[in-house]
Amino acid sequence: MKTSDSKQYKMANKIPVGISACLVGDPVRFNGGHSRSSFCDTQLSAYFDYQKFCPEMAAGFGSPRPTLRLEGNPEQPRMVFSKNSQTDVSKVFMRASEPYIETLSHLDGYIVMKKSPSCGMERIKVYQENGHPHMQRSAGLFTKALQERYPLLPIEEDGRLNDPKLRENFILRVFTHHDFRHSVGENATMKDLIAFHSRYKYLVMAHSYPMYKALGKMLSGQDPRPIRELRHGYFEALMKALSKPAKRTSHCNALMHIIGYLKDSVDVSIRKEIIAVVEQYRRGEVNLATPMTLLHHYLKCYGSEYIKKQQYFMPYPAPLGIRNTV
Ligand code: SF4
Repeated sequence: MKTSDSKQYKMANKIPVGISACLVGDPVRFNGGHSRSSFCDTQLSAYFDYQKFCPEMAAGFGSPRPTLRLEGNPEQPRMVFSKNSQTDVSKVFMRASEPYIETLSHLDGYIVMKKSPSCGMERIKVYQENGHPHMQRSAGLFTKALQERYPLLPIEEDGRLNDPKLRENFILRVFTHHDFRHSVGENATMKDLIAFHSRYKYLVMAHSYPMYKALGKMLSGQDPRPIRELRHGYFEALMKALSKPAKRTSHCNALMHIIGYLKDSVDVSIRKEIIAVVEQYRRGEVNLATPMTLLHHYLKCYGSEYIKKQQYFMPYPAPLGIRNTV
């Protein structure tokens, strides 16, 4: 499905997102319990259509079950039961997870459970023969395989979603991933890519000015790659540009560029007031929602159609309240 109005699309369709089953309340943990995340299961579930999976249950380990841990080489750890490290269960585990991972190409994001040797995204201990963990940590085996199979898929741990900046960044990437796949599609034309990019220019600029320049150059007609390769290269570079939270200074840079669109239509005294609010944001006195709301108000009245359509003003649904937290 292609549409130029991504906001309507987002409202009409929940986004397919994978999730560790214990985070939505399934009693699948080693102790027979769950780790329900109220943020995931209430606020985000209004927008995300969850596809839940417990790789340890899929491997037939049951619940309750003995605890598992990773051992050996941190680059390629093996999975064992904590009290029986002689038996390597990695193959049994991956035999259940790998075919499932192959079915996930339709997802736009994945939320995994922290600290799990299966689902954790980072900092998972890998035990050595001396009984101590290696200095180098790993991802859980399921998430490691998921990252390798879908390197552009936004993946985040539930614990990290408590950090407002990481939460904002993950939600932004999920909505962007979804928008790109539906408004540009697999069989993109150059026109589709340019239309997408023209909506995302200032969002990219707010994350990385060099990437904003690089993506623009990619679509300027100078890149000799065939359209399929160019589409992939653009998507890869876009997701990389958004992979880290934007800094306040970069947001300010993008906001100042946008204020320039009001130069001929809004009185200088009002523009100075808007700039003063941007400076308040730069100093950390107000959150991002404040200059955004003010600027968007004037642009809706006096801005061009081009600037009004910038995804930067509404990269995810406003009721999530995300910009009141960063
Ligand atoms: S962390 Fe992963 S493996 Fe562990 S209970 Fe949750 S879904 Fe299952």
